[in-house]
Amino acid sequence: KGGSETHSFEAEVSRLLHLMVHAVYSNKEIFLRELVSNAADACEKLRHESLTNSDLVKDDPTFQITLSADGADGTLSVLDNGIGMSKAELIENLGTIAKSGTRAFLDQLAKEEGDGSALIGQFGIGFYSAFMVADRVDVISRRAGEAEAWKWSSNGEGAYELSVASEEEALPRGTKIVMHLKDDEKTFADAVTIRRIVRDYSSHVPVPIRMLTKNEEADAIDEEKLTDGTALWTKSKSEITEEQYKEFYQYSSGQFDDPAVTIHYRAEGRTEYNVLAFIPDHKPFDLFDPSRKGRMKLYVRRVFITDDAELVPAYLRFVRGVVDSEDIPLNISREMLQDNPILTAIKKGVTNKVLSELEKLSRKDEEKFLSIWEAFGTVIKEGLYEDPERRDQLFKLVRFNTTKGENRTLAQYVEDLKENQTSIYYALGDSKDAILASPHLEGYEAREVEVLLLADAVDAFWVQTALGFDGKSFKSISQGGADLDAIEKVAQDVDDKSDEEKAKDKTSVADLVSFVKETLIDDVSEVRISSRLATSPVCIVAPEYGPDRQMEKLMRGQQG
Ligand code: ADP
Ligand code: MG
Repeated sequence: KGGSETHSFEAEVSRLLHLMVHAVYSNKEIFLRELVSNAADACEKLRHESLTNSDLVKDDPTFQITLSADGADGTLSVLDNGIGMSKAELIENLGTIAKSGTRAFLDQLAKEEGDGSALIGQFGIGFYSAFMVADRVDVISRRAGEAEAWKWSSNGEGAYELSVASEEEALPRGTKIVMHLKDDEKTFADAVTIRRIVRDYSSHVPVPIRMLTKNEEADAIDEEKLTDGTALWTKSKSEITEEQYKEFYQYSSGQFDDPAVTIHYRAEGRTEYNVLAFIPDHKPFDLFDPSRKGRMKLYVRRVFITDDAELVPAYLRFVRGVVDSEDIPLNISREMLQDNPILTAIKKGVTNKVLSELEKLSRKDEEKFLSIWEAFGTVIKEGLYEDPERRDQLFKLVRFNTTKGENRTLAQYVEDLKENQTSIYYALGDSKDAILASPHLEGYEAREVEVLLLADAVDAFWVQTALGFDGKSFKSISQGGADLDAIEKVAQDVDDKSDEEKAKDKTSVADLVSFVKETLIDDVSEVRISSRLATSPVCIVAPEYGPDRQMEKLMRGQQG
C-alpha cells in the first residue's frame, strides 16, 4: 500500500487537456455544470442499482451533491454519494476518450480553425473542463460496496497519478473532486459565484445540491441549501418559466441549443405518466449515427431507469426529454422492459403526441415548422417506410421541393392536379439540379404537371412502398408508360401540323423505332413512341414494374 503509479493520458485526452489548460474561453464557469451533472448521474446510477441491491445505500439512503469551498486554500470540491469509481473505472473514465460527446468535440475541433474556444460551449466536454480553472485536480472515489478508495491526481499535463486513498480523505461512498483553483480563478471559491452558477445551470438537477463555505470569523462551516432536487416535469406548466425549460433541456440532453418545441403533459387514464419532451432547433451531432438510437430518458416514479428504452421510433430520434411512468414496476430488468405492455402503450402515446404537435405547429407557425423540417425532415421521412401505420399522419408533415416550388405539401399537390391527372409524379436523383436537368421532365413541363423532386437517399425507399396519397398513386417519371397522353399540353407549338403530315411522321417514326430496336436488341427490352418528351429526341426509361433507375443505382452502390 501507499505506492503511487503514474499513467499517461491517451493522446486525444492530452490534446483536449492542453486546450482546457490554455483555454481563452470566457465562459469557464460551465465546468461546474459538467461536474454537477456527473455527480447527479452517479447518484442516479446508484439509485438504480440499489433497486436490486438495497445494501448498497442502507448506510446513507439520501442522495446529495455537496459543493464545498475553501477560500483560504483556494479550493472548490464537488462531492457526491453516488456510485463512485473503482480503480479500473478511474483509469477508463478519466484517462481515455470513451465518450462520444468528447470525441465529437475533438472531431469538430479538427475541422475548425483557431483554438476552438468558441466550440467549448456547444459541447458537453465533461470532466476535463475542470482544468480550465484548476492547475491540479484530485479525484477521490470509492465504488459503492467496495472497501478500497482510490485517488487520482493530475495537473493536466500528460499524466496522472493513482494511489490508494487514505480513510481520512475518502468518502464512505461516492466521489470527491477537489479543484486547486488557478490564481486568477479563485472567484470560484466564493459563495456568491457558486450560488449564481448553480442557479443558472443546475437548478433542475434531480438530486439536491447544498453548499458548504468556511466562515472564518466564527471558525465554522456554513451550510446552505441551493436546490431541492425536485423533478421539473412533475410541476405544473404554469409554475415553469421558459428559461427553466431551456435549462432543463440543456441539462438533460447535453445539448446547448434552444429547444424549438417543448411538449409537457401528463397522460391520465389506463396508464399514467408525465412527459417532458423537446424538439431541438439544431441537429444533434449523432443524428446520423448508424445506431439511430434515441436518447429520451425513462424514469419510474422519479427514479432514472434507462435512456435505452427507445421511447420514440428511430425516425424521431432527435426528440429529447423524459418520460416518468407511475405504473411500471420499479425493479424491472432491462430485458423485461422490452416487451412490457405499459411501455408499449407509453411509446405509442408519446409518438402520437409528438407527431400531432408537429402537425399543429405546421398549421400555426409555418416558419418555425420549416426550420424544424430543414433540420430533421430527412430523418422524419424514414418513418414513411418504417412506420406504415402512421404514414398518413406523416404525409401531413412532409414537405417537398417540386417543379412548382419549395416546401410543397401533398395536399397542395393534389389540389393542383391537372384535368385527367390521376397520379402523383416524382423524379428521383442525387440533387435537385440533377433532376431538373433530366429530359424525362419535358413532357410534364409541357403539360405543367407538377413533379416531386426527390433528392434524399431515403426517398428511393419510401416511394416504393407507399401506396398513395388521397387515392392517388405515386409514379416515377422515369418509369414506363407514363400516362401523360390523357393530360392536355399547355404549349401547343409542336402540334400545329396537318393530319396528313402527322400520319407521315408516324410512319417514319415507326421505321425509326424498328431500326433502333434491331440495333439495340441486346441492350434494351423495348423501344416505343412516347409523349413524355417535348424537345429532346430520345430518353431511357425503366420498366413500369421493375426497380426505378435511381433505386437501381443505389442498390448497385450498396453492393459495390
Ligand atoms: P460524460 O459525463 O459525458 O460521460 P465526462 O467527461 O463528464 O463525460 O465523464 C466521464 C465519465 O467519468 C462518466 O461517464 C462517468 O463514468 C465518470 N464519472 C465522472 N464523474 C463521476 C462521478 N462524480 N462519479 C462517478 N463517475 C463519474
Ligand atoms: Mg459528464
